[in-house]
Amino acid sequence: MASVGIRDVRKAFGSTNVLHGVSVDIRDGEFVILVGPSGCGKSTLLRMIAGLENISGGEIRIGDRVVNDMPPKERDIAMVFQNYALYPHMTVRDNMAFSLKLRKAPKEEIQSRVAKAAGILGLGALLDRFPRQLSGGQRQRVAMGRAIVRDPQVFLFDEPLSNLDAKLRVAMRTEIKELHQRLKTTTVYVTHDQIEAMTMADKIVVMHDGIIEQIGAPLDLYDRPNNLFVAGFIGSPAMNFISGRVRANGKFSFVTDAGLDIPLDRIPPGVEGKALVLGVRPEHFTVAPEGFPVEVVVVEPTGSETLLALRAGGQDLTCVFRERVLPKPGETIRIKPNADLVHIFDAETGLRLGD
Ligand code: ADP
Ligand code: MG
Repeated sequence: MASVGIRDVRKAFGSTNVLHGVSVDIRDGEFVILVGPSGCGKSTLLRMIAGLENISGGEIRIGDRVVNDMPPKERDIAMVFQNYALYPHMTVRDNMAFSLKLRKAPKEEIQSRVAKAAGILGLGALLDRFPRQLSGGQRQRVAMGRAIVRDPQVFLFDEPLSNLDAKLRVAMRTEIKELHQRLKTTTVYVTHDQIEAMTMADKIVVMHDGIIEQIGAPLDLYDRPNNLFVAGFIGSPAMNFISGRVRANGKFSFVTDAGLDIPLDRIPPGVEGKALVLGVRPEHFTVAPEGFPVEVVVVEPTGSETLLALRAGGQDLTCVFRERVLPKPGETIRIKPNADLVHIFDAETGLRLGD
């Protein structure tokens, strides 16, 4: 196992810059997820760690070796791709053994490593099948088995669950996390799915347009997003954003552009008069007589919780309640945000203000 150091890494394809200097420290044994919208540069960065793309600037280290100019096969990494890239004419056993055969490993060692990986992944009964005889989830597992037998310093995953249906994705998520807990191999995992990132990562790197917006533990990003991009990207349903300004006359309140008055307990210093965005997560509203009035548009009960689509002063809001709040569409109810849990951003810079 090894740490991975990414220092001010840049990438240009011809005259197009797609990574503008990114730095991430990945500790030995850590499970790090690169997440961001499609096209933000996640796969490019992962492929640079693997050695499949050259590096236009900066430095990548695996362990204590700078690998910038090292060919992929010398980097001691194993990569799992979205399309699995299994050899269709080889059995599961041969697919898993292939890299070890190339390396000219002794026969007994190949056998025992394949058997061990098959045991870990529950593939024992499938070793003589061909990829076409497997379900999507089983193919996914074979692709992981192929990575595991190599016992690499680092696992690299590029959207490995994207081709699976929703239910299987959730099951494989748990499986990969458990596998990491067991093997403790340093892992860099790329996904566009923030739920995957939240549920699996030790540390999340949020990318956007070739830069890093924020790095942190999942719940730290959720509780303290540094800017509007991270606030809107992490969390589902997404955080509500309300434009307005703070007013302080005796009591603090947030006056929205449409003139709604939302009481606040406290405000960060220096925000009076500034154009602001108030961020409130859907689960941080309560129904309260002293709240502000909102019109109920749609009620979506899921059983465990109720999702309300609301409108207030031309603004759409989403609330989620654990309890069964079941108003009728068209009704007006009063809600208020939990004042301890609101976020305030500078509308101009998008940056978080206060703590
Ligand atoms: P992601 O994996 O986050 O969806 P990619 O890393 O695949 O994004 O791509 C980042 C950007 O680089 C995109 O704008 C993409 O079009 C561009 N890009 C990727 N590979 C190449 C290439 N070989 N030549 C030119 N542009 C590329
Ligand atoms: Mg990609």
